Amino acid sequence: MPEAQVPDKRMPEIRMPALRMPMWRAYPGRLLHFWRANLQFRTVAITVTLSGLAVAVLGSYMSVSIGSNLFDSRLNQVLAESSRATNQAQDFFDSDLATTDPSRTDLEFLSNTVLSNIRATSTSPGGLGVAIYRSPGQQTAVTMQPSQSRGFPGEVISAQLQKAVESSTGPERVWWQSVELSDGRPALAVGSLLTVPNAGFYELYFVYDLGDAQETLAFVQQTLLLGGLALVLLIGAVTYIVVRLVVGPVRTAAEVSQKLAAGQLEQRIPEKGEDVIATLARSFNGMADSLQEQITKLGELSRLQQRFVADVSHELRTPLTTIRLAGDVLYDQRDTFPTATARTAELLHTQVQRFEVLLADLLEVSRFDAGAVELEIEPTNLVRLVEDAVESMQPVASEHGSDIRVVAAGGYFEVELDPRRIRRILRNLLGNAIEHGEGKPIVVSVDSNEDAVAFAVRDHGIGIDTDDLTRVFDRFWRADPSRKRTIGGTGLGLAISLEDASLHRGYLEVWSEPGNGTCFRLTLPRDLERSIRVSPIDLPPAEPADELGESNE
Ligand code: ATP
Ligand code: MG
Repeated sequence: MPEAQVPDKRMPEIRMPALRMPMWRAYPGRLLHFWRANLQFRTVAITVTLSGLAVAVLGSYMSVSIGSNLFDSRLNQVLAESSRATNQAQDFFDSDLATTDPSRTDLEFLSNTVLSNIRATSTSPGGLGVAIYRSPGQQTAVTMQPSQSRGFPGEVISAQLQKAVESSTGPERVWWQSVELSDGRPALAVGSLLTVPNAGFYELYFVYDLGDAQETLAFVQQTLLLGGLALVLLIGAVTYIVVRLVVGPVRTAAEVSQKLAAGQLEQRIPEKGEDVIATLARSFNGMADSLQEQITKLGELSRLQQRFVADVSHELRTPLTTIRLAGDVLYDQRDTFPTATARTAELLHTQVQRFEVLLADLLEVSRFDAGAVELEIEPTNLVRLVEDAVESMQPVASEHGSDIRVVAAGGYFEVELDPRRIRRILRNLLGNAIEHGEGKPIVVSVDSNEDAVAFAVRDHGIGIDTDDLTRVFDRFWRADPSRKRTIGGTGLGLAISLEDASLHRGYLEVWSEPGNGTCFRLTLPRDLERSIRVSPIDLPPAEPADELGESNE
């Protein structure tokens, strides 16, 4: 059955001239399209992002925890050692100075001995030296000069650490601070307080280089980073393979169902294995089988019906011709009959005529269905064709009180078409317009453009309900079948017109407003191979109101 047409529905879209747009501006759109269209890419991207995030969080946590562990163990080691060294020094001072009355030289000797002792017993790696400073603000009998081992980075001992050390009361407490060496390496500064008999309080400082711990941490972090990256890549690859395994059959199913929907009924999905995908394939194929069977059955049925209509129409032709001839004889002699018989002869005559038209229409429809129709193309001037058709319909129009006016814009109207079919379309449209035009003027516009020619038949009659608009092209459909018809009336006219238009690769479209009239527009391509971009005539055609008034008079 031909598809009903409504205004502009089947018109191909107008192509805009190519805009000059920088290439990069198209990228976000393309990427979005790729993202939405590619399930595999989307799944891999989401998995890689999420696992990357998880690996990053885990890696950061591990790095921080390893770092603090390393620092803590070094700190404990350093504190234990400096605490031991402090006690050792304090013991040394106490034991040696308790017995003698030290002179200044002795004291210096002692402090140097203490420093070298500490250095000698130091086992912790990274020790950068020891220093003994005198606590400020004390008055004592003797004083010991501050001394430090060679290379001791005294500049890292901050005032803050010194203050903390000065606040202690004895060697039992050891203070520490994280510092930075002049070359940027991390270090630990440790300080404690010594009490030297007669000489007052002295501060003992140690500095330990933590560079080796930092290097270990950097190595661990690098390993974590490389490991994490490798893990994420591995997860991405595994996801890609898994998704490919799952999506592959689904993609095949989608392709097959698309082909099936496009009419390739023999298409099937390959059935492999026992899993859920195989079950899907089996049920899909089962569905396709029964669909194919039903469609084949229906097709055969429809072919049978078409054959039946064609055969019956054909068979009816001979008896109908005989009836018509007999009827004509009776009709010609009606004047000699009594009135009632004469009326019957007239009735027989008109009904036989209608029967003949119906039969011709039915035969034409069955020829369309059998695909046995071929265009008889010849160069034709569309305006002249329209004028001829209008002229032949003029008597019928006058009978109904309608005035038909042809409005032809200037243009090139010489087109290759089948004039018999196009004339038939126009005659049907004019017949309909006269029949439903309520005696109001009918305007036939003809126009052309670069790749199409068109005519439109506009009446100002009863119009067609919006709900009915989609059905006007259906076979045997009539808005009001009970309405008495003077022209035609089988309901096949528009169905045949639509088939004729399609044969020309043209479009037959309708616009209508109840009470305001109807407009049918036929657009034909100049070249059968080229599609129509836009029709030369608007639907409905614009018409000045005063012009209408003029032709009404
Ligand atoms: P025929 O086969 O003889 O043409 P028909 O004119 O009834 O019979 P179509 O030309 O297919 O058949 O038209 C189908 C129906 O569409 C008409 O019966 C009518 O109800 C409606 N129709 C068609 N043209 C118009 C129009 N210009 N105004 C109002 N209704 C229309
Ligand atoms: Mg008609």
